[in-house]
Amino acid sequence: MVDQTLAKYLNELRILTMLRTQGPASRADIARGLGVTPATITRLVNGLMARDLVNEARKLTKAKSASREPGRPAGQVSLNREGAFFLGVEIGVGMVRFAMIDLLSRVVESSEVVVARDISPAEAVTVISDYLETCKNQVRYKEKIQSVGVTVPGIVTSNGFVINLPILGWKSVDFLGELSRSVTLPCIVENDANAAAFGAVYTQPNLPSICTIFLKLGAGCGGAAIVNGRLLRGANGAAGEFGHIRLADNGSQCSCGQKGCLESWVNFGALARSYRGTDDLSEAEFANLSAEVAAAAAHGEAKAAATVNDFVHWLGLGIVSLVNLFNPSTMILGGEMGPLLEFSLQNIRDAVQKGIVSGLPVPDVRLSELGKFECAIGAATIAHHHAFDISRVEISENELQA
Ligand SMILES: [Zn+2]
Repeated sequence: MVDQTLAKYLNELRILTMLRTQGPASRADIARGLGVTPATITRLVNGLMARDLVNEARKLTKAKSASREPGRPAGQVSLNREGAFFLGVEIGVGMVRFAMIDLLSRVVESSEVVVARDISPAEAVTVISDYLETCKNQVRYKEKIQSVGVTVPGIVTSNGFVINLPILGWKSVDFLGELSRSVTLPCIVENDANAAAFGAVYTQPNLPSICTIFLKLGAGCGGAAIVNGRLLRGANGAAGEFGHIRLADNGSQCSCGQKGCLESWVNFGALARSYRGTDDLSEAEFANLSAEVAAAAAHGEAKAAATVNDFVHWLGLGIVSLVNLFNPSTMILGGEMGPLLEFSLQNIRDAVQKGIVSGLPVPDVRLSELGKFECAIGAATIAHHHAFDISRVEISENELQA
């Protein structure tokens, strides 16, 4: 028999998850969904209302019902979107991005600050704690920010230990430990691609959720697999380095030291070499390259068309391998190559369809909708998930019978 306190906690998470993913529901619907008695639901919903996490639209008199808020039928329980907030932070090169999400996982505000390009872990902690203190002083967020998720563009263990972050010069840093000493809320540290992947899935509860693969394209190529609502982490939390799938023995040197990795065929450097004949470009030129190539290809420029063809060829090979390995229902493409991905999406879909093992279902290949703040939003959704989602709970048969 499950301990009553644990049973209450799990049922609260199940209600919060149900309301977030399926929308408002009556107490009777919730009771049916959870398989518990109406009396239990009354206790649970009343408890969540007392914590300001859910609202219940009152039953109105006939005269008043005409002026009722649209979409909120009387007697429906819904999440109080302003009842809790989660801060997501992306630490990047020369910038830190912030995104605040509410209890419905919707972005409330986002912003970016410029920082030193070689920001140290201690300096990053100060930037984050200063920002958080400013938020905490706002009436809207007072006492309502639950936790903080932070991403870094490097390899992070499940315990928030940064193994290697060459782009910022961090190596073997207990970043979660440093963060937790300054920030008084629960914190999570995650790899940026993992967070962007998680956010892309978590903010789209209507997508099939058993297996989704995410690729983040830009200066590098990161990735992640989300299985049954969780990140697939591997033994040390470092799974998902899909950019280093070896597609050839030759090619340009990859950031991992090998040659022929997917990353080295589809990142900004590859585009630059193919389209400009050199990868010695400024940051601004790299940032604009995807849009430049897509626009030139749309105008029929032969060199741009060849670059697009190469990009689709190698990206298609990478995705085909991932689809053969994971059988995902959805393949999401995020990162900083939006214009080129939009331009070539149908060709990528065709390449995947032609290339995967015969008979394997073709996944829905689509673009992430989160945009520039996808890592910060993703970090916030991971914080949300830790606090308020039933899929984070792992409970064994033995524990249930304890
Ligand atoms: Zn590599």
